[in-house]
This record gives sequence, C-alpha cells and structure tokens, in this order.
Amino acid sequence: KFKALVLDQSGDSVTAEVREVDERLLGEGELTIKVHYSTINYKDGMAITGTGKIVRSYPMIPGVDLAGEVVNSDFEEFSVGDLVVVTGFRMGELYPGGLSQFARVPARWAIKLPESISTRRAMEIGTAGLTSMLSILALEEHQVVPGSSVLVTGAAGGVGSTAVSLLSKLGYHVVASTGRRSEEPYLRELGASEIIDRSELSTPTQRPLLSERWHGAIDAVGGDTLSNILLQTRYGGCVASVGLAGGANFSTTVYPFLVRAVTLVGIDSVMTPLARRELAWSRLARDLDLSLLDKMVSYVSLSEVIDVARRIMKGEVRGRVVVDMDQE
Ligand code: NAP
Repeated sequence: KFKALVLDQSGDSVTAEVREVDERLLGEGELTIKVHYSTINYKDGMAITGTGKIVRSYPMIPGVDLAGEVVNSDFEEFSVGDLVVVTGFRMGELYPGGLSQFARVPARWAIKLPESISTRRAMEIGTAGLTSMLSILALEEHQVVPGSSVLVTGAAGGVGSTAVSLLSKLGYHVVASTGRRSEEPYLRELGASEIIDRSELSTPTQRPLLSERWHGAIDAVGGDTLSNILLQTRYGGCVASVGLAGGANFSTTVYPFLVRAVTLVGIDSVMTPLARRELAWSRLARDLDLSLLDKMVSYVSLSEVIDVARRIMKGEVRGRVVVDMDQE
C-alpha cells in the first residue's frame, strides 16, 4: 500500500482525496518507479478541480510529471536504481500519473536523468521547463537569434518563469507580460528587461497590423492575447503558441503571415518524440541558470496539492510548485 492523490467522479463533479491505494491503481509498463517528486502544472489544476475534460476515466491518479528511482525494470536498458524523469504521454489524463508515491509506466516514456540533474531539479524544471525549451528550440529553428527581443506571456507562471530565465541566460532581450505588477521585481531578477501589463495585449483590435515590437514570442495565454501578439511581431519573426490560460479561441487575418512573413508554431510537450525530449533535457542541463531556478520554486506535500490546484486555476501561483512525496 502507498499514498496517492485520487480523483473520482460523483455525478457531474470531481472529488479529490489523498488516500492509501494499492498496485491495482497503477498503470501498465515495464518500469515501476518510486516517485521522489512530482509537480503541479496548469493542466493538473484543471484535472484536480474538474475544469474542462482533462481526465478520461475515473478513478484517476493525476499528475503529468514525475521523477524518481526505478525499483523494478522488465526492460534491459533500465536497471533498479536508475534515476528517471517522465512527463506527459497523457499521464494524469488517460493513464495514472505522478501524484503518487509509486508509478508504473512504459519504458519508452522514461528518460534517464543527465548526471547534473537530480530528481528534485528535474521536477523544478518539469513540464513547464521542458515546454519552454521546446519553444526556444522552435524559435531558434526559425532564426530568432540571441540579442533579439522575445515576448513571454503569463510570465510569472511556470512556463513563463522558466522561459524568461532561459531566454535571458541565452542573451535575448526579454519582454515579460504579466497581470501581476507585484511580480515585477521577481521577473526582473529572472532576467526580464521590460515588463508590460497583461491588459496591453488582451484588448481585441480591428487593425490589420500594429507596430512591430518583438522578433519572437512564447505565449502561455492564447485568446485575444495571441491575436495581438501576431499583429506586433516583427518581419520574419516567430510566435510559439503554448497555452490557453486566457482562452482557447483566437482570431487573426492573414496579414501577419503575408505581409510580415510571421510564423506561428504549435508547441506540444505531451507527445514530443523521445529524441527531441532528450535534446531539450540536455539543453536544459546546459542553459538553465540553477540559481534562478531556486528563486521560482516552492515545495509542498501531497496533502497540500488540492489547495495549490485551486490557486493555479485563479492565476495565483508564482513559478513552479514541486510536490515532495516523502514530505508529510
Ligand atoms: P501557470 O503556472 O498557472 O501559468 C499561467 C500564467 O498565465 C499565470 O501565472 C498568469 O501569469 C497567466 N494567466 C492566468 N490566468 C490568465 C488570464 N485569465 N488571462 C491572462 N493571463 C492569465 O500555468 P503553466 O503550467 O505555466 O501553464 C501555462 C499555460 O501553458 C497553460 O495554459 C497550460 O495549459 C499550457 N501548457 C501547455 C503545454 C504544451 O505542451 N503546449 C505545456 C505546459 C503548459 P501572470 O500572472 O504573470 O499574468
């Protein structure tokens, strides 16, 4: 028996409870992992609060991220004691996830951690950091080069904070958009050169194009914000669409694409193929300033997760939240 957060459905609502469970709630796969740490991302907030249709069947252990130690392996490339990170692959949606003291997953989902990254560090980075790095890879592939300006929206959140710190370390001029002016000192510490208010980007306009402001963007907000970002992206620039914290629908004309040769790229961290994940993790090991990472992380126990899930849905959580599975 071990402890896990379990979601159940009762009528139209979802209930969440930390309780003792047994192996029957685990998934299928070659690796059994003692989870050291998990995290709480926006999607976990949606699953735990029953917002949107994230979870496909109940009971479900939520948690899109986990890092821990292999305690049983039926796959020759992994041995007992290996430290691994697993993110996405619809864990916590379709398959049992990481908010549990144990997890069982297919070996092809797991990445052995580079020596410089502990299980704790891996979860400080988590899906948010991976997604930021996948976005930066996309910007690089579209010739958005260090020195140029890149906008990050939802900057004080998990994806936003990791994106701001990675971009600033790589030498970009970072424009951070936030709805929380109180987080300005925090964002400057992470390396933002300019802070703009979220409301500057959230008002719809009928104009076909606006003045050019940034070469690239990493957008965690979506909705009208994404429409406005496209109108202000410089000639030849690239916008990475990552999230929907502000809404799923957006509208655009073709002008940013036809007149300014702007590229809109989609970022998905869930089903990213293993080779690209490994590339992103090795870049994270190289490019992330660990002292900045320390500034953006808070730690909670499994019993505090439900409360954090409610707060993340209200946009009240700063940076990354790591769940320590051994903390009472
Ligand atoms: P998070 O920590 O909650 O960050 C979201 C941030 O968005 C908030 O901190 C807030 O930042 C801003 N925000 C919240 N509500 C808003 C609203 N109504 N209008 C405008 N801005 C708002 O969440 P996260 O885990 O970083 O995820 C961010 C987004 O990316 C989510 O939509 C998530 O689903 C998505 N995501 C996608 C992928 C992928 O693979 N594509 C991976 C991870 C996450 P400020 O207070 O600074 O404004």
